[in-house]
Amino acid sequence: MLSTEQIPDWAADPRTRAGRVAARFRERFASEPELWARAPGRVDLMGSHTDYNLGFVLTLPLSRDTWIAARRRDGRTVRVYSMNLDAEDEFRLDAIDRISGSTWCNYVRGVAATLQNEGFELTGCDAAIHGTVPLESGLSSSAALESAVATMFAGLGDWNLTAERKALLCQKAENEFVGVKCGILDQYSSCLGREGCALLLDCRDLSTRAVCIAAGIRIVVCNTMSRRRLSGSEYAQRRAECEQAAALLGVSALRDVTPEMLAAGRHELPERVARRAEFIVAESARAESLARALTAGDRPAVAQLCAESFAGARDLYEICSPAMSAMMDAMLAAPGVIGARQAGAGFGGCMVALVDAARTDAFRAAVRDAYYDSTQVHAEIYPVEAASGAAVFDIAEIGK
Ligand code: ADP
Ligand code: MG
Repeated sequence: MLSTEQIPDWAADPRTRAGRVAARFRERFASEPELWARAPGRVDLMGSHTDYNLGFVLTLPLSRDTWIAARRRDGRTVRVYSMNLDAEDEFRLDAIDRISGSTWCNYVRGVAATLQNEGFELTGCDAAIHGTVPLESGLSSSAALESAVATMFAGLGDWNLTAERKALLCQKAENEFVGVKCGILDQYSSCLGREGCALLLDCRDLSTRAVCIAAGIRIVVCNTMSRRRLSGSEYAQRRAECEQAAALLGVSALRDVTPEMLAAGRHELPERVARRAEFIVAESARAESLARALTAGDRPAVAQLCAESFAGARDLYEICSPAMSAMMDAMLAAPGVIGARQAGAGFGGCMVALVDAARTDAFRAAVRDAYYDSTQVHAEIYPVEAASGAAVFDIAEIGK
């Protein structure tokens, strides 16, 4: 169920979006929402698959986000409606069952169950969800949904949850309740975002550093619109290969391996496992280097780091698809491009380009045309801003 739908025009304007969500809430639940929560998606600017290796990622919490309008209700029933899917779920807080198979309901239920298991007091509620993060496209709509749900329950229950703990509990919900073994990147990005900044996240100690991007550089998301086929099983396989590499090199995670250590121990590793390790060790170092280059506005360094990242993803980590190669060609040939690479776990979905701000429109048009010429697919190409992390917000202030 891949969203190939461009975000509707009304959703691009926050006031119109608020009006639409409130109207839908009234329609479904015959009352007014009393609390609004939002949480951003993210795009990784550097650091593919480094999070579960406890390395570095440079991540950008996005202006594309998930909103929830909610109202407390008497009793222990939770009713949630997703505008994106036009689907409703209802469950009782006393007995939160996982629904078998992969379904959106488990993301909401999982967060509720995890919060309750930690001793938080949850109230029954009605909630309407609306996201502008494309679903299943590598911009982490799942973490945006989880973080928004956790923020909503905290707001309705009037208790406090730090951004760090919220992120960890949302990850636990996705790992254990939904059953997706994601690393911490997505939830941390969604919970700890700072407006106007990228974040350099150290996935070992979970510290973050705000990274300013030099004026004149824009981040543009380029969605291949192709399904991330086999991404679940391939993802699990990459994780297993990295664990194998770490074990054979005598460390607990590839984070602890330097390029020199890898060169010395490479002969101990099966050839494919060695290539995986080589990519991770270099990619984690590139996340730190790109943070420096973006702040300094060092465009040649940005170009080179992105090119190395994509080449490694294609040849060493093997997470590329034909659609991604076509998009890469289109991005690199477009006016204003500074650097371009994969995003998310790979295998299709979204990619990311760093573009000269003054030429963003020309870049978008050229990429769209070139990608269509080679694939006959209409790609969604849009600039994004860095957004703040999950929080409740005052609907009266929206769009002011
Ligand atoms: P990604 O996180 O890259 O978007 P995932 O496969 O991890 O992709 O998560 C996508 C899933 O999250 C969707 O298939 C759906 O189950 C759930 N989801 C995310 N946003 C929403 C939403 N607004 N409404 C309902 N479900 C959503
Ligand atoms: Mg996800």
